[in-house]
Amino acid sequence: MTDSEIERLIKLEEKRQKKAVNLIASENYVSGDVLRALGSVFTNKYAEGYPGKRYYGGNEIVDEIEELCKNRALKLFKLCNKKCLHRAKSRWHVNVQPYSGSPANLAIYSALVPIGSKIMGMSLEMGGHLTHGQKVSMTGKFWEQVPYGVSKKTERLDYEEIFKIAKKEKPAMVVVGATAYSRKIDFRKFRKIADAAGAYLMVDMSHIAGLVAGGEHPSPFPYADVVMTTTHKILRGPRGAMIFSRKIKPLGHPVSKWTLDVLIDRAVFPGLQGGPHINQIAAIAVCLKEAMSPSFKIYANQVVKNAQVLANELKKRGWRIVSGGTDTHLFLVDTWSRGISGKEASDKLERAGIIVNKNMIPFDTRRPAGPSGIRIGTPAVTTLGMKEKDMIKIAEKIDKTLK
Ligand SMILES: *Cc1c(COP(=O)(O)O)cnc(C)c1O
Repeated sequence: MTDSEIERLIKLEEKRQKKAVNLIASENYVSGDVLRALGSVFTNKYAEGYPGKRYYGGNEIVDEIEELCKNRALKLFKLCNKKCLHRAKSRWHVNVQPYSGSPANLAIYSALVPIGSKIMGMSLEMGGHLTHGQKVSMTGKFWEQVPYGVSKKTERLDYEEIFKIAKKEKPAMVVVGATAYSRKIDFRKFRKIADAAGAYLMVDMSHIAGLVAGGEHPSPFPYADVVMTTTHKILRGPRGAMIFSRKIKPLGHPVSKWTLDVLIDRAVFPGLQGGPHINQIAAIAVCLKEAMSPSFKIYANQVVKNAQVLANELKKRGWRIVSGGTDTHLFLVDTWSRGISGKEASDKLERAGIIVNKNMIPFDTRRPAGPSGIRIGTPAVTTLGMKEKDMIKIAEKIDKTLK
């Protein structure tokens, strides 16, 4: 590289990433193939529009990439037959152009939820995402959030309570998904909740998509109307997102000319975005193929095993785990129960070479800048090949560092 300043920083970051024990639940290490696609000449190309309907010339190869990516996406989540030769016949459509998860969610709402109406989402303090209608996010300014959360006693989703709220508030969309919830989510129950409100069911599976693909978490597809996922978390692809939608008429508009997939495609482009990042779409295609391999299943399984062992080992050493454990790739530790704020804990751990993030815990009495807990996740260390015995060592080190 001739730009030595940037070259130096890339090298430094490579070194930092190799040295640290990365327990950030939303991070991972992509393959060389994903990086190769991301750094390819596709970044030079403008391709506003969709395959076969572009506003620029020279897109034959780009069209092939985007079609291949869409086929692989539907295939990975078992939404079309083996070769995906009859994608038109699938009941699901996929859009692979969203730049990232946040704009993808904005696209879904702007396609299906009238401005000013209600979106029901898990509140940020309970483990939801900013883009599920939180006040400081534009999604909370354009739409009104009806928040829901976990039960104080079990620290798990309180489906009965959520049902009651939905029935009373009648949101236009129920959003399911979290960034800091460690238990399996029952999508069938959420379908009933959405139906009770006459609402769409949108599942934001960004955090768990890799577990769904690997068979470690039930799939939302039998129940949801729309499914969004980022591609860069357990799924181990480039930063990016995909929106899956059912080819059904909009709720309350049975004679509409358009189906959800058409409305969402239009919301992504030209509604919110211009030219898609074709290099990113190429890299998503690569990660989707990798996720179909037998080794990905083994990885997904190990991610969960590692999280469970790590949580248990910390529990044995006296640390309170929110909800008592985990079914997924992450969990929250209530460090404040032993007098250490989440910020202090994550700073101490960082100095010891362990990277986590501070995190609010349900019913947190402290502020977001210095919350009561930390979030710990195992996708990245599992990608590096770590197993149960390594988790025991990490638990020992965390315990020693924080005590
Ligand atoms: C990560 C995440 C997002 C947002 O993705 P960005 O790519 O960071 O914009 C949205 N929803 C959930 C549940 C997430 O975990």
